Amino acid sequence: MKKRILVTGGAGFLGSHLCERLLKEGNDVICLDNFFTGDKKNIEHLMDNKYFELVRHDVSEPISLEVDEIYNLACPASPPHYQFDPVQTTITSVMGAINMLDIARRTKAKILQASTSEVYGDPEIHPQPESYKGSVSTTGIRACYDEGKRCAETLFFDYYRQYGVDIKVVRIFNTYGSNMNPYDGRVVSNFIVQAIKGEDITIYGDGMQTRSFCYVDDLVDSMIRMMNSRDGFTGPVNVGNPGEFTMLELAQKVISLTGSNSKIIHLPLPQDDPMQRQPDITLAKKELNWEPHVSLEEGLKKTIEYFKEVI
Ligand code: NAD
Ligand code: UDP
Repeated sequence: MKKRILVTGGAGFLGSHLCERLLKEGNDVICLDNFFTGDKKNIEHLMDNKYFELVRHDVSEPISLEVDEIYNLACPASPPHYQFDPVQTTITSVMGAINMLDIARRTKAKILQASTSEVYGDPEIHPQPESYKGSVSTTGIRACYDEGKRCAETLFFDYYRQYGVDIKVVRIFNTYGSNMNPYDGRVVSNFIVQAIKGEDITIYGDGMQTRSFCYVDDLVDSMIRMMNSRDGFTGPVNVGNPGEFTMLELAQKVISLTGSNSKIIHLPLPQDDPMQRQPDITLAKKELNWEPHVSLEEGLKKTIEYFKEVI
């Protein structure tokens, strides 16, 4: 029998890829989104599929749905977007988690939370294993997102212990690919759009801070494997590509792959910007038999093609 699967944030970057994959695998998919950062264009090609339904709804408000599985992704993910209305960002994470966990509790659905490497804050341990408890500011400009996501993890584990809800938690590291909003301010989209348009490439700070970038297809694969992982395996589990690059290296790669004559300029580093980030994926390899396969160069080439079409 077809599984009925709810994807919150399904019109966003990761959610739209997930909806597509789940439909391809023969499931009945409900996409719930309030279109804050998502776009109908990302899911337009799924609209004719009779097993795809779209619900315009804010996840921070209760809703009653009958489902077998829930992927909870609804939340703005880029710093400019989650800092636009920081109070709403925390509400989305916390109330969204409660509302979705309540559906899971009532319907006995399995529920996966899209958590983030931001729970590690500006990490003092490198690379970051799941056991690292993090170094997060409660008062800075990233706290609305970081602490919202940390509280959502807490709620997931309390619903698991207190009500026996079947939970799965993935901590996603920086991911990129098609369907990213070209103007959402994240580094990969910014650099590619700037390079294609021949505009200055904006590096914040000296560009020596690092991130580890995972291509979207690899990431979606890890989420589905996590949902289908053995009973009792809750995570949290890191998912991301351990290949680590400075922002300067990323800018140079984008310039060379686009053949752009853009120049690099330096702008101030935003407050609390983490200096380094690399996932330890030992647990994902063991429990999910998963590791990423797409290299940064290969993934960037595909993403550049996508942005050339849409901008
Ligand atoms: P995105 O901004 O493209 O997608 C988020 C989606 O959630 C959008 O469609 C948006 O409209 C929707 N949304 C936001 N607030 C909502 C609300 N209150 N009610 C209903 N829908 C709402 O971002 P993304 O990169 O696809 O991220 C998806 C999830 O994965 C987020 O929870 C994010 O925190 C997590 N994540 C992403 C990354 C990454 O690198 N892409 C890394 C770590 C974690
Ligand atoms: N960044 C940058 N130029 C940009 C956008 C971002 O140098 O135009 C930097 C940013 O300061 C951070 C890194 O790139 O150090 C990753 O930023 P992003 O917003 O993509 O993700 P996050 O900081 O949430 O990991």
